[in-house]
Amino acid sequence: MLRESNDFNNSASTITCGRVASTSNDEFIEAYLRAGEVAYKVKKSVASIVKPSTKLFDIAEKIEESIRFFGGEPAFPVNISVNEIAAHDTPYVGDTRILTEDSLVKIDIGVHVNGFIADTAITITFSDKAVKLVEAAEEALRKALASVSSGAPINVVGRAVESVARKHGFNVIKNLTGHSLDRYLIHAGEVIPNYFTRLALGRLSSGKAYAIEPFLTSGKGYVEEIKSSIHIYALNTSFKNYKQVTEEETSLIRFVYERFKTLPICERWLVREFSDLSMLRTLLQSLVRKSVLTAYPVLREVSGGLVAQFEETVLISGNEAIITTNPELNR
Ligand code: MN
Ligand code: MN
Repeated sequence: MLRESNDFNNSASTITCGRVASTSNDEFIEAYLRAGEVAYKVKKSVASIVKPSTKLFDIAEKIEESIRFFGGEPAFPVNISVNEIAAHDTPYVGDTRILTEDSLVKIDIGVHVNGFIADTAITITFSDKAVKLVEAAEEALRKALASVSSGAPINVVGRAVESVARKHGFNVIKNLTGHSLDRYLIHAGEVIPNYFTRLALGRLSSGKAYAIEPFLTSGKGYVEEIKSSIHIYALNTSFKNYKQVTEEETSLIRFVYERFKTLPICERWLVREFSDLSMLRTLLQSLVRKSVLTAYPVLREVSGGLVAQFEETVLISGNEAIITTNPELNR
């Protein structure tokens, strides 16, 4: 659900950044497929990592390690969102949170290969709790994916998701959507609502990748930001007062751009380089105030309802719709 833009080079920056080299059509498809394959393998290994009594911190580190092991890079910090938290939670340095038997856990994994992204999520439950919700969310994604084809109206996705949610007596989270993907961009502009709306006018088009991700809930169907819980950031590109950053801030910006471009980041990824944690936190907060970084607060269902999410990435190539993150679902 993270929103980015990759126009960093165009800002009034004193930092020079290399332009992203262009790729041919085949290379681009190849990279999308490879990212999807890595994401699929990681997803398969998640069940052995995500268990009760495990620290969220260790789960996150293991999942991101396995992304690298399989030959990809994390496209964003793995989101581990429990119960009524829908998204944008990732463990922070010193995080002691532990999964319990009755945790309902969303694991949202992002992988990129040369900037081409696979975005996929699953929901895990260890008890009978919320089994119906989890199954409904998975069915909603399957129905939505079955409706996806080259040239199909974006609307078909929301129609499918909403009808499955209603059938099982759950609500769709209306302010969380699927999205188009682009190179180094998680949210490339097009939004794919999880409910039917005439306002979603576009069509799914060839040469593009889309993340389809229904969120279902036993609650009201909206999320709100928890402003005091921010664990994910990304370089913002539209800031203008770049000259007002300090030397320390400049070195942090430089490090982030060189390593992660405009993809989302978290404390865990920076602390090795900026070992003084309280200094790092001060810099992050200050760069958010200066609009150099965008902060992504944790998102919670407004009524405290449980939330389940499933997500796959689809690449539309010619007349084909290829689910890059799950070969089992390709028809
Ligand atoms: Mn997504
Ligand atoms: Mn995702």
